[in-house]
Amino acid sequence: MKTYPLFFLLEGQNCLVIGGGPVAARKVERLCQAGGNVLVLTKDISQELIDLKKKYEFKLEQRAYKQTDLQAQSIVIAASDDKILNVEIANIAKANNILVNVVNQPNAGNFIVPSMIERQPISIAISTGGASPVLARLLRARLETLIPSHYGKLAELMAKFRENAKQKFPDLHKRRQFWEKALSGKISELLFSGQVQLAEHYLETMFNRTYAEEDHKGEVYLVGGGPGEPDLLTFRALRLMQQADVVLFDRLVSPSIVDLVNQDAERIYVGKQRSNHSLPQQEINQLLVDLAKQGKHVLRLKGGDPFIFGRGGEEIELLTENHIPFQIVPGITAASGCSTYAGIPLTHRDYAQSCLFITGHLKDGSMNLNWQALVQPQQTLAVYMGTHGLDILSRELISHGMASDTPAAIIQQGTTEQQNVYTSTLAILPDMPKQFDIKPPSMIIIGEVVKLREKLAWFELTKN
Ligand code: SAH
Repeated sequence: MKTYPLFFLLEGQNCLVIGGGPVAARKVERLCQAGGNVLVLTKDISQELIDLKKKYEFKLEQRAYKQTDLQAQSIVIAASDDKILNVEIANIAKANNILVNVVNQPNAGNFIVPSMIERQPISIAISTGGASPVLARLLRARLETLIPSHYGKLAELMAKFRENAKQKFPDLHKRRQFWEKALSGKISELLFSGQVQLAEHYLETMFNRTYAEEDHKGEVYLVGGGPGEPDLLTFRALRLMQQADVVLFDRLVSPSIVDLVNQDAERIYVGKQRSNHSLPQQEINQLLVDLAKQGKHVLRLKGGDPFIFGRGGEEIELLTENHIPFQIVPGITAASGCSTYAGIPLTHRDYAQSCLFITGHLKDGSMNLNWQALVQPQQTLAVYMGTHGLDILSRELISHGMASDTPAAIIQQGTTEQQNVYTSTLAILPDMPKQFDIKPPSMIIIGEVVKLREKLAWFELTKN
């Protein structure tokens, strides 16, 4: 099927929809949104149409279609239940040079309606030439995920400054260069992260200067890479990963996630094994500053969420002191990822009304925790970095009053193909590493909710 793509200016034009079912209603809605002067003819009025009538202005007549209805129509959509009637309508419309579409019969009319991605005022239309609406929908879903939802704002901003740009750069080539520079960097980034006013302000300054100093200043992206499974990255994380010039990552970030970083970006491994930091924290902080000062887009990629036991706060403190622009992208934290993939809800109406995220990191061989606060009924404990202090954890909780048969789980490499979940009780917890080869990273969950795993485990079942 050969087609000629176009976007039709429908404002004030007559449109006729024949049929009143849910599909017809969807067509009516789009025609109304485009400003069409819509008449709907149908014998049966669906609930969808009744609902639409509350939102949009259009004429609805409960009667059969007559040939004379086609007069003075710009667009006709044949969406009745009667396939033969639809084709008949299409044939007459075509003979009269009226645009006509027949639902579910792309060949019968003379235009097809594409699948759409809307980022107002941007519209992206997809057609498979009538071959497969399912494929068009799949493609649409893919593009939806690739194109940030704030893209429309970019178009709005450009429209607002279009005249200024024409005056400032009468030469088309120079104007294009200006826009390319403006859009490829900071401004789109500000818009995509929702900072509309700042983006506008920045664009204004760019207009008022021939050389924008800030263009040569780098930026740091502090990005949470989630617990390990690449599919659990956020759209924003992935976008920033693709535009970084250099990436600093540590051991917790899985290789399959590092693989998704822009192939040309320089990769710097900054280690962070327990008490064996290959780069001390201050040096990491300083490196971020130095690289950004060289004008680079620096990606600081962290496991889980940067603000949960991630030292994200310390890293950006030095950035603010040095006036380096940065943005932070949250990630799925290990407690959340591991609990979900182990089938252990962190809260549950019957078992836990609260959940504490705590660190079991050992300092000088002990854990500095408020044990009393941890031993509360109906509360789940999610323990990060706790596998080396299982004996202390178990002993202290029991001595502060937690039942020794409280269920506990160790989730190793949660959310990944290598995930392993070991369940036991608080008393037996310290023996677990003797029985099983427990490797980092591992998360400990303590509380009645662990019992739910028996029923709710799902991931291991689908893994193979
Ligand atoms: N910022 C990270 C946590 C860093 S602390 C986050 O928000 O998840 C490191 C600890 O996180 C590890 O010792 C381990 O307890 C836990 N952890 C991180 N990823 C994990 C995973 N995939 N499975 C199990 N535990 C994990």
